Amino acid sequence: MQFKEIPGKDEVKEQLGRQVDNGRIPHAQLFLGKEGSGGLAMALAYASYIMCENRADHDSCGDCNHCRKTSKQLHPDVHFSFPVVKIGDKKRAETTSDDFLPKWREMIKENPFFDTNQWLQHIDADNNLPNINVKECNDIMHKLNLMSYESDFKILIMWLPEYLGTEGNRLLKLIEEPTDNTFIILVSENQEMMLQTILSRCQLVKIPLFEDNEICDFLINHEEIPSQQAQQIANLADGNMSLAINIAHGEAADYSDKLLSWLRASYKLDPIEINTWISTISNMSKDDQKNFFEYGLHFFRQFIQWIMTKNENISLTAKELETVTKMSSLIDLEKAEDITNILNEAIESIHRNINIKIMLFADSLTIGEILRKK
Ligand SMILES: [Zn+2]
Repeated sequence: MQFKEIPGKDEVKEQLGRQVDNGRIPHAQLFLGKEGSGGLAMALAYASYIMCENRADHDSCGDCNHCRKTSKQLHPDVHFSFPVVKIGDKKRAETTSDDFLPKWREMIKENPFFDTNQWLQHIDADNNLPNINVKECNDIMHKLNLMSYESDFKILIMWLPEYLGTEGNRLLKLIEEPTDNTFIILVSENQEMMLQTILSRCQLVKIPLFEDNEICDFLINHEEIPSQQAQQIANLADGNMSLAINIAHGEAADYSDKLLSWLRASYKLDPIEINTWISTISNMSKDDQKNFFEYGLHFFRQFIQWIMTKNENISLTAKELETVTKMSSLIDLEKAEDITNILNEAIESIHRNINIKIMLFADSLTIGEILRKK
């Protein structure tokens, strides 16, 4: 991974690059950014930059012996640790990240901006709770105490240290007094879930969310999404690159038509239209269903903002804005808030594995009632 593969974030890239160029790389750093802000991608690009022997234009060369290995997550001196679950017949206590390295490489190759849910699906976690266990911590200490193989440096990238639990205390000594030329990069999405003892010993690097235009350009150039749709997805994703890519890969990225046909069918209380709509939504993957309701939520939040300010400078496409203008004769602030609540509850219910058809049917009736209310 090279810095140039990550859109924007020039300040962070400069800050990290300068550390390496000046030979002042902190022993332990915490890359902190919300889900979808690209913290892991940044850590990968940074590790490549540290290892590269032909750095140029403030980036790794992508071509030297080290780059060829870091680009495939195959460098023997770059170690990875991340939350996992049980694998095959192996006992959970015996299972570590190493057992999942092929899956890890596949996932990064497919999409270096993946989120926790995508990772858990990729490793077939089902309902097992992931974590980073005692054996993993012991293995890390062992690995980092060995001599490096091919480089002068050793790097540990730990993705989501919030899954360490109290086991993390085992790593304190390593973080405080690391062996020479060893760099620890923790990539976290949630500061509150981190052990305070670890947090206080790391140098903090804040990773901001992406700008809408960065996401939009990325979707157009890398995912071949038409520009109008890319704009819609970028607005919805709100800086979260994982969510944006997830929606773009979804089977039905154009959610606005689905939302409108739902409102229409519910308003008319037309049983055939409602049933057709329910079967369309219930056949989508759980991720797509969640994304659809997230879209609905985004749409109505913008709608509410528009009712209150009549300011057209909101995160909606021209087509959506046209819909908003038309809808405002039918839906007032109170109704929009009621619908927002239903969408919020729907997102929570999807997480709880409820019967989706029953939920969609009940929600259609309620939304119909809200819309027809005088
Ligand atoms: Zn290189």
